[in-house]
Amino acid sequence: MARTVLVVEDEMKIRELLRNYLEREGYSVVTTGSGAEALALLETVGPDLVVLDLGLPDIAGETVAAELRRSSNIPVLVLTAKASEADRIRSLEIGVDDYVTKPFSPREVMLRINAILRRSSGVAAIAAQAFGSGELLIDESRREVVVRGAPVDLTATEFGILSALASTPGRVYSRTELLNRVRGYEFASERAVDSHVKNLRRKIEADPAYPHIVSTVVGAGYRLGLNRDR
Ligand code: CA
Repeated sequence: MARTVLVVEDEMKIRELLRNYLEREGYSVVTTGSGAEALALLETVGPDLVVLDLGLPDIAGETVAAELRRSSNIPVLVLTAKASEADRIRSLEIGVDDYVTKPFSPREVMLRINAILRRSSGVAAIAAQAFGSGELLIDESRREVVVRGAPVDLTATEFGILSALASTPGRVYSRTELLNRVRGYEFASERAVDSHVKNLRRKIEADPAYPHIVSTVVGAGYRLGLNRDR
């Protein structure tokens, strides 16, 4: 079945450009120029991925993204005209999976969409792995994480970071390495990794009575290990 992409963009030219490219790649495409309609369409369409312009006429794209993230795990690719680094970081802090700055090349958008969906569907799947006598279970093929028996909803990027760390538990991964593992290409901001790790921890280390799952190694990066200390 064709995967569905919801394109939320108020500029008709960009919307139709993306539609053409996506349809050519075999995606089924639903578009809207309104943030409010986008939130309604999430329910009815059930897209596999959302392309979201931050500059919408009715609701700020950031609000749409935050709303979307509260209720689902659907991957989000943000389109932004705001090229400043602060805005980029902010986009990632609200839990989006990737972004492109306008003007963009449709080819680049396609590559990023394909990469996000590849990550989130776990095509390069390995079997489920258990860590710390089953305290943490990662099922790559189903993209599911279970912490002490409770399923946890992670974004595609958070899942990517966790499964990268889990590929060799105990090994320290630098932020750059994690970026490369997760995104598959170079990306400058190490701070973005920190904010994804922060979100990941909030979700998988919610119970203070239990050991931490992701450890910070000062000056080096992160590693997976069930520890009492950070
Ligand atoms: Ca716009």
